[in-house]
Amino acid sequence: MNTVNGGISFWYAQDGASAPREPLPGDTTADICIVGGGYTGLWTAYYLKKAVPFLNITVLEAKFCGYGASGRNGGWLYNGIAGRDRYARLHGHEAAVRLQQAMNDTVDEVIRVADDEKIDADIHKGGVLEIAHTPAQLQRLRDFHSVEIAFGEKDRVLLGARETAERIRVSGAVASTWTPHGARLHPVKLVKGLAAAVEALGVTVHESTPVTEIRPKHAVTPYGTVRAPYILRCTEGFTASLKGQHRTWLPMNSSMIVTEPLPEHTWSEIGWSGRETLGDMAHAYMYAQRTADDRIAIGGRGVPYRYGSKTDNDGRTRPATVDALRDILIRFFPQLAGARIAHAWSGVLGVPRDWCATTTLDRSTGLGWAGGYVGSGVATSNLAARTLRDLIQQDSGQSGPTDLTALPWVNHKVRKWEPEPLRWLGVQTLYAAYRKADHHESTTHTPTTDRLATLADKISGRH
Ligand SMILES: Cc1cc2nc3c(=O)[nH]c(=O)nc-3n(C[C@H](O)[C@H](O)[C@H](O)COP(=O)(O)OP(=O)(O)OC[C@H]3O[C@@H](n4cnc5c(N)ncnc54)[C@H](O)[C@@H]3O)c2cc1C
Repeated sequence: MNTVNGGISFWYAQDGASAPREPLPGDTTADICIVGGGYTGLWTAYYLKKAVPFLNITVLEAKFCGYGASGRNGGWLYNGIAGRDRYARLHGHEAAVRLQQAMNDTVDEVIRVADDEKIDADIHKGGVLEIAHTPAQLQRLRDFHSVEIAFGEKDRVLLGARETAERIRVSGAVASTWTPHGARLHPVKLVKGLAAAVEALGVTVHESTPVTEIRPKHAVTPYGTVRAPYILRCTEGFTASLKGQHRTWLPMNSSMIVTEPLPEHTWSEIGWSGRETLGDMAHAYMYAQRTADDRIAIGGRGVPYRYGSKTDNDGRTRPATVDALRDILIRFFPQLAGARIAHAWSGVLGVPRDWCATTTLDRSTGLGWAGGYVGSGVATSNLAARTLRDLIQQDSGQSGPTDLTALPWVNHKVRKWEPEPLRWLGVQTLYAAYRKADHHESTTHTPTTDRLATLADKISGRH
């Protein structure tokens, strides 16, 4: 059987879509209008409605809830947040430690709410294992480990080759770092469960309703306009398609493949009984999970960016990307050389010019937004949502500042991306440099990070 390509994602093929929700029937009003029905929009609706049950909240979703990255991701619910180290430089180490602590807590918060709302999203908290293959990766792993400890992760451990293999036998792994602050989940089960939970609370969700323009107190769609004191933009990788937002966040692609369920004898060779999420220290890194039904889902960058910030073709991914991901799979687990790849897909994530996630409420206009999570939005979207709730409650006089509104990523501003063709050329060059650096590090066994990658990080604004 051939590999299924696209169709949004394997997660949808496995779990199915929810019954479609009605589009916006015409002009209307709300207390809060949320644009985008992914994790960010839905978590925000959830927490606002829980805090103030009489609020009239409308969610407008262009396609269907979970159509974007929230229905396609690698299912790493973990404590990483894009931009923490920059926030430490901008606001001081202590502020960034608070941000990190909030992220650690967020992993447990998502698990708590899923439990409370009876959302069975195949969540398993086995932590995150990140491995090194080459001497340069080993050096980066040690540095990364020390930095994370300095940001307060006292429970993170550094593992040698043998201890790594006791968890997961990845061919050629020389070391790893493991943190307990991570869980594996089924992305679509979470987003579908969330959409059902917010509806049950009384939030109105309209699907097949693209917002063409957001302006203060107005979300404009082809079917009518929603007028509300607060309009929240939760469109992450699709933001570039909104009027006036073309260069705000660059839509970066990430692609995934998934195997068929693997037999018991393969698992006894590989191990992975702790069901940790698995990543590596390559510049063009990979991420993987062992699914609840014993497949391996693995992802990484394919074509990183499409000219003109184009976004989607319902998850179809290039055959060359499928081959590249399959090569990584087999390099990690050579016994899978004959394994069939059941499904391949891709999606977009939002990358700000300085690679820093943010959550913002402009008090003068009532416009808010959250995103720019780069590749770490499964947990971060939940922290963003609780922060937006607190910002709105503060703005509307229902409460004062909170621990969340004081976090350093709140109301962060960054310049826009360059116009084309500079934007396209920049990203192509960046990823070509990363691939070249990975190749050089693995063929020369140099113990230091390739200078090309360091330079690329600096020029791109990533570090
Ligand atoms: C392949 C892939 C793997 C990933 N793996 C991980 C991972 O393992 N762990 C992790 O932490 N993060 C991961 N991410 C990132 C993570 O999935 C995202 O950061 C997160 O899902 C973002 O949620 P969101 O709600 O902000 O955006 P989205 O889920 O993209 O939702 C945005 C929604 O807005 C809708 N929309 C867009 N424009 C409009 C409009 N004009 N009008 C109305 N609606 C609109 C879209 O249809 C979409 O449903 C991955 C991303 C991808 C693509």
